[in-house]
Amino acid sequence: MIDGHCHISDVAFDHDREAVLQRASDAGVAAVVAVTESFADFDAVLGFAEGHSGPYGGGLVVAPCLGVHPVQSDAETGQQRSARLEDLENVLQAIRSNSARLVGIGEVGLDFQPRIASSSVEKDSQKAVLKAQVELAKELGLPLNVHSRSAGRPTIEFLKECNAKDVVLHAFDGRAAIVRSGVDAGYFFSVPPSIVRSEQTQKLVNVVPLNQLLLETDSPALGPEKQGRNEPCNLKISCEEIARIKGVSIEEVRKITMQNTLKLFSRLRTICPRL
Ligand SMILES: [Zn+2]
Repeated sequence: MIDGHCHISDVAFDHDREAVLQRASDAGVAAVVAVTESFADFDAVLGFAEGHSGPYGGGLVVAPCLGVHPVQSDAETGQQRSARLEDLENVLQAIRSNSARLVGIGEVGLDFQPRIASSSVEKDSQKAVLKAQVELAKELGLPLNVHSRSAGRPTIEFLKECNAKDVVLHAFDGRAAIVRSGVDAGYFFSVPPSIVRSEQTQKLVNVVPLNQLLLETDSPALGPEKQGRNEPCNLKISCEEIARIKGVSIEEVRKITMQNTLKLFSRLRTICPRL
């Protein structure tokens, strides 16, 4: 199994990150796709990827995506706010110069929760940040690891408008009709362990064909219980729940989601030929 979306650089893992990765490896996780939220995370994620590149040896592979999340914490106030073009300072250049080591660009997207984006100025600002990263992804031939919250329809419509082709929508919270429009665009959807307590995600799995589903944890968030830290070893929970909903074996879900992940993040095979 491959964790298609994980925040392995999060402070929640600072005291036991190696043990977390070992538990994941023991649970059958072959690789973790690590995303960033801001430029400040880039070096850490690249460093973990370097330390877990294992193309020949055993052990779990950390495969990096770099990108700027639609929600940023303001340097002056510490408050969360919509991303602005100034947050891309140094970012596009850093992505370009590291592009050979990356499997994708992310975490990018749109987040229209009222406390983050109450005005059209804020929404447009997020869209400008997303667009710049979509254009770079197309230029570099990299897929996009996409966040959306309270913005299901605008996210899918905007990605289509930007002509984005290689996309995974992670922990997508839009309605079935919007999910279908993403499926029609050929987008993948990744399913976190929180599916066991989310009727919305269970509905999504019903709508999306198995060959467009990926597994993810979004660790340390979106675990099977609302409280507590999520870990990549919980990937099997997503797998089991998809198998139950689709009425197929767990083995089938493992196999197909693995193929889907390698199709979308095609550089994974270059980074780790044994996958
Ligand atoms: Zn995330």
